[in-house]
Amino acid sequence: MKAAVFRGKHDVRIEDVAAPVLINPHDAIVKVTLTAICGADLHVYNGAMPGMKSGDIIGHEFMGEIVEVGRACEKVRVGDRVVVMCAIACGRCWFCKHAQPAACDNTNPSASAAALEEMYGHSGSALFGFSHLYGGYPGGQAEYVRVPFADVGCLHVPRELEDEEVLFLGDIFPTGFMAAENCGIEPGDTIAVFGCGPVGQFAIRSAFLLGAERVLAIDSVPERLAMAAEAGAIELDEDHGDLIRRIDDLTGGRGPDACIDAVGRTSALHNAIHVVRKGGKLSIPGFYGGAVDRFPLGAAFGKGLRFEMGHTQFHTYAPQLLARVQRRELDPSFVITHRLSLDDLPRGYELFNSKRGGCIKVVARPQ
Ligand SMILES: [Zn+2]
Ligand SMILES: [Zn+2]
Repeated sequence: MKAAVFRGKHDVRIEDVAAPVLINPHDAIVKVTLTAICGADLHVYNGAMPGMKSGDIIGHEFMGEIVEVGRACEKVRVGDRVVVMCAIACGRCWFCKHAQPAACDNTNPSASAAALEEMYGHSGSALFGFSHLYGGYPGGQAEYVRVPFADVGCLHVPRELEDEEVLFLGDIFPTGFMAAENCGIEPGDTIAVFGCGPVGQFAIRSAFLLGAERVLAIDSVPERLAMAAEAGAIELDEDHGDLIRRIDDLTGGRGPDACIDAVGRTSALHNAIHVVRKGGKLSIPGFYGGAVDRFPLGAAFGKGLRFEMGHTQFHTYAPQLLARVQRRELDPSFVITHRLSLDDLPRGYELFNSKRGGCIKVVARPQ
């Protein structure tokens, strides 16, 4: 089969590789009908993801049709159309039983989890196509994928919804939604979203769905700001003028009730902590790894801030968000700017990484 393979920094190739086979009785094989490049894949593309090996298949946003199931599968059957959750969860451990599937204890094998346990004390779940720190599972930018614990990780989607309307239920929609929910939004609230990439876009729309009165959208890419404005957000170009002063002006000097760091860079986090109101909330869906120096703990303490962060609980959020899509509260396909074939995916990486050509979100069809 064909798959997008990591060969080194800025070197993603479409190669012929062995098609996956069932290994465990809870596995299913999915024939991919639509896949996407996630912002997190750019860490891989830029050679910044430790634990990637040359030859690894990338990608964790994908959906398709079940073509084979292991003998222990009960909920998924051949022919089912499913979106696959990007984190792999067993559905049975303490964390899975307590609505924290992204903290699953059973899916990241010990050899792979060792470095995370050494650094963090514990490792979370495995992820598709996201290095040998997270299980080394072959990813979804491919024609076929083996899905472990398929009964747990596959979300059935109704035929009346198009692939583009449901694909993002496996990753960026739950991530943006959980980020907004973690703001504990109350009527009248102003929410500032730092970073208007795909996750930021879903955070903006989710904040409105959850009752925010105003959303401030902060970025420097004109197309991203325009997309945020279409949702009703107030655009703030961070490259023009004093950002902190403008946010202060817009909030009567008090600051936003909550800030979302959808960038995952300390410059954004510092600005968010500085500008958020006293007693406000910081929600961090942006990805951080390792230790972050010069974290302004004094400001966080002095202002009495609350923090929420971490890997998204995809399995927990996806079913309720599917219901919102079915009720037409939001059509997730708004974020797609580029539709490519799998063969063209290396060009998609270049475009997305450079943010050129108005590129906000790339999807690809294997066939
Ligand atoms: Zn992702
Ligand atoms: Zn588990």
